[in-house]
Amino acid sequence: MDQPRLVDPHTEIREEVAKLCARYPGEYWRKLDQERAYPTAFVRALTEAGYLGALIPEEYGGAGLPLSAGAAILETIHAEGCNAAACHAQMYIMGTILRHGSEDQKRQYLPGIATGALRLQAFGVTEPTSGTDTTSLRTFARLDGDHYVVNGQKVWTSRAEHSDLMLLLARTTSRDKVEKRTEGLSTFVVDMRETLGKGMTITPIRTMMNHNSTQIFFDNMIVPAANLIGKEGRGFRYILDGMNAERLLIAAECIGDARWFIKKAADYARERVVFGRPIGQNQGIQFPIARAYAQMRAAELMVQAGLAKFEAGQTPGEEANMGKMLAADAAWAAAEACIQTHGGFGFAEEYDVERKFRETRLYQVAPISTNLILSYVAEHVLGMPRSY
Ligand SMILES: Cc1cc2nc3c(=O)[nH]c(=O)nc-3n(C[C@H](O)[C@H](O)[C@H](O)COP(=O)(O)OP(=O)(O)OC[C@H]3O[C@@H](n4cnc5c(N)ncnc54)[C@H](O)[C@@H]3O)c2cc1C
Repeated sequence: MDQPRLVDPHTEIREEVAKLCARYPGEYWRKLDQERAYPTAFVRALTEAGYLGALIPEEYGGAGLPLSAGAAILETIHAEGCNAAACHAQMYIMGTILRHGSEDQKRQYLPGIATGALRLQAFGVTEPTSGTDTTSLRTFARLDGDHYVVNGQKVWTSRAEHSDLMLLLARTTSRDKVEKRTEGLSTFVVDMRETLGKGMTITPIRTMMNHNSTQIFFDNMIVPAANLIGKEGRGFRYILDGMNAERLLIAAECIGDARWFIKKAADYARERVVFGRPIGQNQGIQFPIARAYAQMRAAELMVQAGLAKFEAGQTPGEEANMGKMLAADAAWAAAEACIQTHGGFGFAEEYDVERKFRETRLYQVAPISTNLILSYVAEHVLGMPRSY
């Protein structure tokens, strides 16, 4: 049964993305999951269809579509049982180059990203010692003539082995020399094809799902000064600027996950007969699925409100944060209802439920954890004192 949605200007995109996704069924993702392999064919198909360049302006070779189109693409990928985590980052990372890069940098990188000739999938922010406390990061980029010398370490940098470029956040002025801790951080485009093995080492981290996670070590890595984005010391501000878009796009993926779990659960509940009747006839089975559906539709409203504000040129900090939290919660509630509805079969790999269950759990933690969103709402929306 088709699940209703809000009035949607992107119906055609959704239909086309769904058709593409149908070429990558559960077997495809299951095999990758077992081998912890990268979905190269799927990412190539998305790139060739122009979906990963959807948000890049037409003058730089993209489709010039609004953020809501990006959200529709990512939601559909997840609702169809696929996973956009292998490639979603370039939709929001490229925004830093677009908003804060020089004209030369935009011409140098964006057209290649739009065609797929350049993969900008790696985003190096998190470090082992600083965690969520980003401004405590220790990776340091020291200017030396016409280049920077970078030393330090990143952790959880997704897709680094499948990316040509990395957007890197590093300190350029030590914390004791800046007035505010948010100052003295800078963003760079690192050409990893140049630096791999030359001051940069990538080590994979195996996780509970297939996410191509890595940690990256910098040992006197050279980055040309021309690769600095915007002004030195303003990098944290640039990263923050991109976070609302990132949260709204990830929330759209969570809504897609919730839709997939709900459909899978309701279909199974109608078909599976125990005690001589469909299990879906029992309220104990129906209600958690119905509740997750209500949660998903409510989250969708919040995400739509955020997208509308973003596209109107406003700052949707509240909606983006709450939308991400509500959508992640709805996806998790739907995952829980789905696995429970399937009973023992929910744990069998061939049903794909356990894989999606593992995948959707991430969104309670990354890219921002639920606690930090609640802290944001408490402090910035409700005016309570900062708790950390
Ligand atoms: C699979 C995966 C992929 C990722 N991809 C990337 C990537 O591509 N690039 C990148 O830079 N990062 C990436 N991350 C990192 C991710 O953004 C962080 O894991 C996340 O921000 C949390 O940081 P942490 O793991 O260091 O947890 P910590 O900061 O150590 O926090 C641990 C727990 O404590 C809670 N906590 C911390 N401080 C507070 C507080 N003040 N109040 C209440 N609770 C608090 C947190 O909510 C969390 O639950 C990824 C992580 C994972 C797991």
